[in-house]
Amino acid sequence: MKIVCLDLEGVLVPEIWITFSERIGIPELRRTTRDEPNYDKLMKFRLKLLAENKLGLPDIQKVICEMGPMKGAREFLDKLREDYEVVILSDTFYEFAHPLMRQLAWPTLFCHSLETDANGMVVNYHLRMPEQKREAVKRFKEMNFTVVAAGDSYNDTAMLGEAHAGILFHPPENVIREFPQYPVTLNYDELRAAIDRAFAGVAD
Ligand SMILES: [Mg+2]
Repeated sequence: MKIVCLDLEGVLVPEIWITFSERIGIPELRRTTRDEPNYDKLMKFRLKLLAENKLGLPDIQKVICEMGPMKGAREFLDKLREDYEVVILSDTFYEFAHPLMRQLAWPTLFCHSLETDANGMVVNYHLRMPEQKREAVKRFKEMNFTVVAAGDSYNDTAMLGEAHAGILFHPPENVIREFPQYPVTLNYDELRAAIDRAFAGVAD
């Protein structure tokens, strides 16, 4: 019983806030937790900017739809789902991910959600639970799954550590340096080979 847990942004689709800010021309939306470590403050700042620019959810979804997944992501995921259970664990929001999930043929996604008003303006956000990536992996293990997890950044390292095996995909240099225990993969062929190898190396 094998399950692959994949991060979404930076693995299957571009970084949503960053790409969105570039496409819509609002550079302040590029701000990340590196600039503002208080996540609640950062999200309130983002929602305020969206409201000031009169960007409702339909406008946002249209831009996200045009971003599309990364090249080769759909084929990689289709193949992976033939051989393993696959769950995407992400810190994005369902409402943002929706147009991209359609382009990825609706894989299973666990993430957070947004609240909109009658006019489609985003008024609040709801995190389903803290540390959901790691918690999900923990629960899959309790259900007797062998878990291999792959992600690209800091917010994935707890999930990688909890899984039977963890793999980095296109990580930044500092993550490679800080987490030398995880194999680094740079394209989908390498990632798929590393996943197969990881399962082969973990006794069921
Ligand atoms: Mg990521």
